Amino acid sequence: MDVQHPFSDETAELPDPSEMPDLKAGAMAESKPYVAPCTIQEALNYPGELVENWQEKAVEKLGDLVSRYRSLKVYLDSCVKCGACTDKCHYFLGTGDPKNMPVARQDLLRKVYRRNFTFAGKYAPWLVGAVDLTKEVLDDWYSYFHQCSQCRRCSVYCPYGIDTAEISMAAREIMDHIGVGQKYSNEIIGKVFKVGNNLGLPPKALKATLEGLEEEIEEETGAPVKLPLDVEGADILVVTPSADFFASPHMEGLMGYAKVFHAAGVSWTLSSEASEAANFGMFIGSYETMRNVSLRIRHAAEKLKVKRIIIGECGHAWRVAYSFLNTLAGPFDFLDPAYPVPQHILEFTHGEIEKGTVKLDKSKNDHMTLTFHDSCNVARASRMGDKPGGQFEIPRAVIKASCNNYHDMPDDTIREKTFCCGGGGGLLTDELMDLRKKGAMPRMRALKEVEVNHGVTHMAAICAICKAQFSKVLPMYGFDREAIVSVHQLVSNAIVLDQPIEAEAD
Ligand code: SF4
Ligand code: SF4
Repeated sequence: MDVQHPFSDETAELPDPSEMPDLKAGAMAESKPYVAPCTIQEALNYPGELVENWQEKAVEKLGDLVSRYRSLKVYLDSCVKCGACTDKCHYFLGTGDPKNMPVARQDLLRKVYRRNFTFAGKYAPWLVGAVDLTKEVLDDWYSYFHQCSQCRRCSVYCPYGIDTAEISMAAREIMDHIGVGQKYSNEIIGKVFKVGNNLGLPPKALKATLEGLEEEIEEETGAPVKLPLDVEGADILVVTPSADFFASPHMEGLMGYAKVFHAAGVSWTLSSEASEAANFGMFIGSYETMRNVSLRIRHAAEKLKVKRIIIGECGHAWRVAYSFLNTLAGPFDFLDPAYPVPQHILEFTHGEIEKGTVKLDKSKNDHMTLTFHDSCNVARASRMGDKPGGQFEIPRAVIKASCNNYHDMPDDTIREKTFCCGGGGGLLTDELMDLRKKGAMPRMRALKEVEVNHGVTHMAAICAICKAQFSKVLPMYGFDREAIVSVHQLVSNAIVLDQPIEAEAD
């Protein structure tokens, strides 16, 4: 199936799902993100440029990582080359480059591991595919470990559960330690430490933005819905991706959270110190960075004396929060034990819908027929609510409570088998646009299927990266740029605010 690009003569291809792509060796060898300059590297305590004894340092770091993380060692030792993962990566399906097969991507690190840390690799490297770390190998690492969005789809199909994402994270951490970091991710981490968010949005500008949104909501609904900032003593601290403060469809989602809190009659606040849920420390594989970014949330919660922490619509932030926050920044024994730490905004909204405090008029979304894109880090690396599978059911329950028309995409493209949007894992940068477009192909194909067969017009998502990526790539496949919506945008459209409750902490 071919789709005409609406703004150019380019034709984006949506091949039949049963077809394997034609192999194109080396097709994506030149796809690589900008290398971080000295200032960005040094701000994170990494060397500013490739260090002199980089081979030795890289092998030393690899040794450190396999000794610290048993899982990494098991993954590097246990692949039997069964081939089950080969056609499961969206970047392989979209590019045909064999080095984008998960097993081949892993082997880029595995062959250096074998050479340096296994008996056979040391004494008979030719027998086990072991190689020295050369500049050519390092160049491949930089290209192909930045063509993995760490989505973990391949691991679902691997009989040994080998997680390529963890191998990619390790490779990126090694590269940072020898002075070859990725500009996009490392620059963003620097901004989080310096200003509080990925955007570098200072507190004054953030306050003005929130006031602007309050006015917009009041004009639209007549209800005095608040978006409080730095309110000491509020019950709930909301930590959300900074995209929620400046772009569509993210902002519409943030307005949805505010309306839900208003309807529920709870006090809440955002924080200028923790004005970012994203944690790019995970993308670069750095435990220390991930911890320091997470500690901002703890500091903000302590300073504002809140009782609960709720995380907004952000895929990888939810993974870090759900899976690691207690280890990274806990214990959170100063919070109210009656609530989970942390809680997802969808859990909160779902609970309020069930209690009846949030009332929804589904007909407000009748101009749309919806589907849902499960974000990788939510689907495969975390849960939601108190039942297994809550990360699949709760978002769908909230969407279905907000609209009348809903159809899922094909089974092998949703839930735990979901396809990445193509821009996750620190790849949402313009110089990787070609890769992002090609990596989005499997998701676009699934969307086309429900558009043609069920009249789907819009796709909802709960991840800031997915929303930003789809806003860019949807038009490349002939869809409307605005076909991507926030789940809380649907809630915002449908919520009935006829009983304003004066309980905001402002
Ligand atoms: S983790 Fe995702 S992006 Fe990385 S190799 Fe596996 S399927 Fe591809
Ligand atoms: S599915 Fe697992 S064991 Fe099989 S080739 Fe892929 S990584 Fe190796």
